[in-house]
Amino acid sequence: MFENLTSRLTRVLDSIRGQGRLTEEQISAAARELRMALLEADVALPVIKDFIDKVKARALGVEITQSLTPGQAFLRIVQQELTTTLGGTAEPINLRAQPPAVILMAGLQGSGKTTTTGKLARKLKTEDKKNVIVVSADVYRPAAIEQLRIVAGQVGVEWFPSAVGESPVAIATAALAHARKQYADVLIVDTAGRTTVDQEMMAEIAQLHAAVNPVETLFVVDSMTGQDAAKTARAFADAVPLTGVVLTKIDGDSRGGAALSVRHVTGKPIKFLGVGEKSDKLEVFHPDRIANRIIGQGDMLSLIEETAKKVDAEKAAKLAQKLKSKKGFDLEDFREQMLQVQNMGSIESLIEKLPGGAQIQAQMKNVNAGKEMGKVVAIINSMTPQERKFPDLIKASRKRRIAAGSGVEVQEVNKLLRQFDTTRDMMKKVANGGMAKLMRGLAG
Ligand code: GDP
Repeated sequence: MFENLTSRLTRVLDSIRGQGRLTEEQISAAARELRMALLEADVALPVIKDFIDKVKARALGVEITQSLTPGQAFLRIVQQELTTTLGGTAEPINLRAQPPAVILMAGLQGSGKTTTTGKLARKLKTEDKKNVIVVSADVYRPAAIEQLRIVAGQVGVEWFPSAVGESPVAIATAALAHARKQYADVLIVDTAGRTTVDQEMMAEIAQLHAAVNPVETLFVVDSMTGQDAAKTARAFADAVPLTGVVLTKIDGDSRGGAALSVRHVTGKPIKFLGVGEKSDKLEVFHPDRIANRIIGQGDMLSLIEETAKKVDAEKAAKLAQKLKSKKGFDLEDFREQMLQVQNMGSIESLIEKLPGGAQIQAQMKNVNAGKEMGKVVAIINSMTPQERKFPDLIKASRKRRIAAGSGVEVQEVNKLLRQFDTTRDMMKKVANGGMAKLMRGLAG
């Protein structure tokens, strides 16, 4: 996400970060570079102008002249102004309505509306423990209705049936009556999308809006369309009262033009980012965290939250207990850990959130961490249960058998056993003396 923008901005900011003094010329030159980077990122012109004017005005003022670390002060100004451009503070989804809270999804065809409906339903169900029903009012494409039925099944929420030929308003009204009867907390209404904005589509969504009185009307838009995303959002905002925007396909957007333009152009907050095709790839939009990511400072808060959400607490507790028992850490546990890390989603999406992550990613292009872990799991799968429990049994002939069984060289088996030994030693330290001792061990 935003790799190109981040690497350009990081270069500008790195050249200025360590400066003990900043002259007016240096500030102007840096502002010019920032401007170029934003132009290249396809950010809307008025947004660029506003941003650069503010950064320059502040940088030429007391904040820099009286700072002992002018380079750092400049970085802070850029970070703060980026945060403001992105919307300031996070605006969480609003469900404060007489239940069921209705969420209306709008957007062009192919923007990711149906996918996002599924992701949002999943998030509200798993994280907020809401009882969610979804319905499709796309009466023009039977495939769209079927797609929503499948997505709903995958994320485990109720799908209210609809069919081609019915009226969108009648479908939505019936779904709402049903949701009331079921005491559902949330009803998400997916709507029809066209390939371009047209009158008929606007009239239909306005009618739907009037019929179901949604507490949230979210505009779903493909971030890869750059500043055009912001323009389309404005056209919609003129027709229906939008409450927020969801930017999808951020995972493929190296520029960032949509994210930086939407708020300024529409006046509406970005509420979520779609960061992949799978149903768990929806992130709450935090302007300050994204600003940090854009300037190469990483996003440790999101990283920690994401990791905490995905670690299986029950399994972790079991492992802790086992470590304390006589049995100790074996290859079964090692495999389990690999699988858990794999479950945390692509390693790339985690690395991306580390400070300097964009650069690390570029260097890692040729290393496929996911594949490496898959290999480890395959090797352990080729062992007998006895070997997994007592790895010391694995001598030369067994190594050859395991290597052949998992389609790798014997060296790979040796490497895995060494990794396992190191991990087991660390685990022993954790079990015997907790983290503090482990840290001392690492330091010594
Ligand atoms: P709709 O016509 O607006 O309902 O769009 P869909 O939900 O059918 O999505 C269109 C395509 O975009 C599908 O292939 C989705 O898998 C894909 N898509 C949606 N959101 C994302 C996202 O955040 N990242 C990526 N990489 N693909 C996405």
